[in-house]
Amino acid sequence: MFDYIIVGAGLAGSVLAERITNILGKKVLILEKRNHIGGNCYDYIDKNGIQVHKYGPHIFRTDLKHIYDYLSQFTDWNLYQHEVLGLIDGKKVPIPFNLNTLHELLPENLVEQLEKQLIEHFGFDVKVPILELKKTQDKDLKFLADFIYQKVFLNYTMKQWGFKPEDLDPSVTGRVPVYISKDNRYFQDKYQGIPKEGYTKLFEKMLDSPNIKIMLNTDYNEIMEINPCEISLFDKKYDGKIIFTGEIDEFFKYKYGKLPYRSLSFKFETIKKEYFQEVATVNYPNNNDFTRITEFKHFKPIKTNKTSIAKEYSHEYDKNVKGDIPYYPIPRDKNSEIYEKYKNEAQTVENVIFIGRLAEYRYYSMDNVIESALKVFKEKIINE
Ligand code: FAD
Ligand code: UDP
Repeated sequence: MFDYIIVGAGLAGSVLAERITNILGKKVLILEKRNHIGGNCYDYIDKNGIQVHKYGPHIFRTDLKHIYDYLSQFTDWNLYQHEVLGLIDGKKVPIPFNLNTLHELLPENLVEQLEKQLIEHFGFDVKVPILELKKTQDKDLKFLADFIYQKVFLNYTMKQWGFKPEDLDPSVTGRVPVYISKDNRYFQDKYQGIPKEGYTKLFEKMLDSPNIKIMLNTDYNEIMEINPCEISLFDKKYDGKIIFTGEIDEFFKYKYGKLPYRSLSFKFETIKKEYFQEVATVNYPNNNDFTRITEFKHFKPIKTNKTSIAKEYSHEYDKNVKGDIPYYPIPRDKNSEIYEKYKNEAQTVENVIFIGRLAEYRYYSMDNVIESALKVFKEKIINE
């Protein structure tokens, strides 16, 4: 009855459901264990009338026009540009660390020289990952690198991952490089924004097809039996294909060991003020338990005398704790080795496509997920 069963109504699952039904006219069943579509992008209007992101701040950005054009079929945009401040030495300063941050945190007599040296050494409008900056031999730049490492990266990364920056893949801290520039934006991508009516509406439009059936509150394990040679749905043999966007180690019943993930908890609060903070996100790279506070009104301003914020806390994901969510794969060599074993096995399983943050064990942003899904559609699905 269904040509495809898709496990997960997040971005990866929804893009593929949309393509398979709208382009190929085939039938899709989506199984989603949460009580809503959208995965971690899900948003809703809260009791204060403010659109909040249930699973943390989501800002869409990409340099790829075809990805932006693809998503723009389902939404208009608030052309929002994200700025983040970090509370350091009692001051809220621009993050990523840039030349403005330098001026705010160090004495003027030092700053002039350091700024000159940074530009001479690396150039202007250049991004330097902190672990690269720390390798510099220059005495003054080394001082600066250690300063930034201590003030911006060390505590935040310990809180977020339980590891020091150097014990993670360099790409993790490389996401927020030192920026030799006076541009205070968090991202410099060509296309940036927040869906005008929110992410959930965007997903609803994507999935609005008579050929898509969605079962919420349904873990695929409850209604499917999968062993590589035989798949059943409600105890009946299923001959179609599966697109799997859940945890790849779970799919293979942990045969090569558990892949670790990082989880989060969000503490939502109502503040009786028009605004709580200057920008949407303030990072706390210090001793507070939380990593960041997001104030959602900045994404989609509305006139109210209350505001909604969320404090974000990170912890180790534990599958046995009900409701715990595996938000982040943890990019480390040891984990990549385990993942490679699952990936090799996945390639031998015909009829199942593994895609998305959890199934590919990749620290993907939304545009990466869409790119990956469109590629899979083109290379593996369209010609079947
Ligand atoms: P998911 O959204 O995780 O979807 C997978 C779905 O599968 C989930 O809905 C899950 O419930 C379901 N599922 C899993 N197992 C089962 C099962 N056994 N049975 C049934 N269903 C199952 N990206 C950006 O581009 N910009 C940002 O600003 C940004 N901010 C982020 C902030 C946070 C705090 C987090 C965690 C992520 C952020 N991202 C951001 C990344 C973005 O959320 C992801 O790239 C994207 O949502 C991944 O989509 P996905 O479909 O791969 O995974
Ligand atoms: N990071 C940090 N201090 C900051 C911001 C980021 O140490 O003020 C590091 C930290 O390790 C974090 C990583 O850079 O996990 C990536 O940050 P990003 O904001 O991209 O994280 P995400 O929004 O994906 O959680």
